[in-house]
Parts: sequence; C-alpha cells; structure tokens
Amino acid sequence: MKKISIVIPAYNEEENLSQIRLAVDKVFKSLSGYNYEIIFVNDGSRDNTQLILEDLAKEFSQVKFIEFSRNFGHQNAVKAGLDFADGNCVISMDGDLQHPPEMIPQLIQKWEEGFDIVYTIRKYSKSISYFKRKTSDFFYHLLSSLSDVELEKGSSDFRLMDASVIEVIRQSGESDIFLRGLVKWVGFRQYSIPFIAADRFAGSSKYDLGRMIKFAFTGITAFSVKPLYLAAYLGFFFSLLPLLYIPYVIYSFINESEISGWASLIMTVVFFGGVQLIILGILGIYMGKIFKQMKDRPIYIVRSKNIN
Ligand code: UDP
Ligand code: MG
Repeated sequence: MKKISIVIPAYNEEENLSQIRLAVDKVFKSLSGYNYEIIFVNDGSRDNTQLILEDLAKEFSQVKFIEFSRNFGHQNAVKAGLDFADGNCVISMDGDLQHPPEMIPQLIQKWEEGFDIVYTIRKYSKSISYFKRKTSDFFYHLLSSLSDVELEKGSSDFRLMDASVIEVIRQSGESDIFLRGLVKWVGFRQYSIPFIAADRFAGSSKYDLGRMIKFAFTGITAFSVKPLYLAAYLGFFFSLLPLLYIPYVIYSFINESEISGWASLIMTVVFFGGVQLIILGILGIYMGKIFKQMKDRPIYIVRSKNIN
C-alpha cells in the first residue's frame, strides 16, 4: 500500500480540525490502495488547537501533530510538515477547508500518471473580496516580472509532491522560505489543476494586509536580484538627465543675469530623495536577508510532537 502524507498548518484553527480530519478520512475511505497520515503543524496557536490535536491523535492513529514553541508563520509550518512526512507523496493544504479535500483523488491520479508535482491554481469564488483579488493578481504579476520564476495567478499552497521532490526541498536551508516559488523552481514534471476556493469553514483569515505585503516582498526577493539591477538602471538613466539641462543653463546664463527655478529645484530634491530612499530600502531588504541567513537560526522550533 502506498502512503500519502497530508500536511496541514494550523494557527488558531480549533473549530476546523475535526472537520478537516473527517473530510480527509472520508476521501480515503472511498479510495482503495492507499494509507494516509495527517500531519497537523500547530504554529503556536493561542486557542485550543493543541488540546484538540492531542485528543484527535489518541482517537485516530492517522493523526500526527507537531507543536511549535511559538508562531513561526505559515510557510515554516508547511516546511516542518514536509520535513517529518514519510509518505510516498505529500499533499499540503490549509486547515480551514478552503482547499477542498474532495480534490485529493484527482491529485493522486495525476501523480500516478507520472507527474512529480501536482499543484493547484485558485480560481476565485464570489465571496473573496475585490480588494484581495486585485492585490493578489498584482502580486503574481509583479513577482513574475521581477523574478526568475514564473508563478501563475492564484498559485496556492494546495499541492501534491512526490517523495523525491520533498527530498530536495528538505535540503533547502533558506531562512525566508517561499514554497510556492521554490516548488516551481525545482522543476521535475509538474501539472496544474484549477479549483474554486471554498469559504473558510470557521474562524477568520490570518493574513492581514501587512502580512500580505511582507509575504510579497519575501517572494520577490527570494527568487531574484532584478530589483537591484533596477536600481542600477535608474541610476544610469537619471545621471544622463542633467545633460539635457546643461544647454538650458548655459543659454540662460548668457542671456539673463539670474536663473529662476526654486520650484523645480525643490521638486527635484524631493524626487531624488525619494528615489534614493527606495533604492536604499531595496538594498536593505537584501541585506536583511543575508543577515538572517548568516545567523543560521532554525526556521521553527518544535515543542512537542507524536511523530519521528
Ligand atoms: N497559518 C499558519 N500560521 C500563520 C498563519 C496561518 O499556520 O501564522 C495557517 C492557517 O491556520 C491556515 C493556513 O495557514 O491553515 C492559511 O491561512 P489563512 O486561511 O488564514 O490564509 P488565507 O486563506 O486567508 O490566505
Ligand atoms: Mg484560508
């Protein structure tokens, strides 16, 4: 029998845990030939997530949990699940039932056909806010144009990966891990399936605007140094600009005794002040990444677990 590991990060998901376990169990009851385990990664939840996971684990042998010492973030939680999973393939999905478990057989089927990575593309359901749609589309657009990985609009963390892929991802020692990009980047044979995201079963989204922006920066800077080139190009461009201005200055100097231009002077100073700060900021983001990577701290700390 082949074994499938399901990895589910959970941050304050107390109301969703039994429901998702039940839904996954139902799917596997209808599939023959597969064993499964569900690895819940409790990412420092402050509600009863841990208690519920321990109860579920007592009741159902397929339920495993990894409890973090504090909140380390969604990406690191998924990475931890991948580190401990030992199935022939691993499926990662959210713990709020937005990623429909009923699609699991489809993912497995494509895997059986020989694909190493079967990932999903989220099509929007009507209930997702206009703002979230637009910001998300903009993010993927920006990411694809600024980096060297081509990520489709609506790429999600609901995907199946063969054990050979997991082996490669496990070895990545990145401190700011961005799995959507990394999984695309590793190559192998990939297949994508669209799906309509369901509504959250219970609770509320853990990604507010601030977190989404940070996530976007992480994604872009994890896969490209193009923003740095952008800074250099801008520099060249603006250093050529004064050449156009010099003839005017000379002309005015000869014909008038005084050159006016207070307003344009202030504009220029403010504008270039801004450009320089942005470029410094970009440099800073990369420096911060180097700093984090240098310290080489673990990307998550396990407090307790029932899996080896
Ligand atoms: N999550 C996590 N750690 C965090 C934030 C989120 O493990 O710091 C989990 C969360 O429990 C859920 C998944 O990541 O299973 C996706 O989060 P959410 O549903 O809040 O994101 P959204 O679907 O709104 O983008
Ligand atoms: Mg969600």
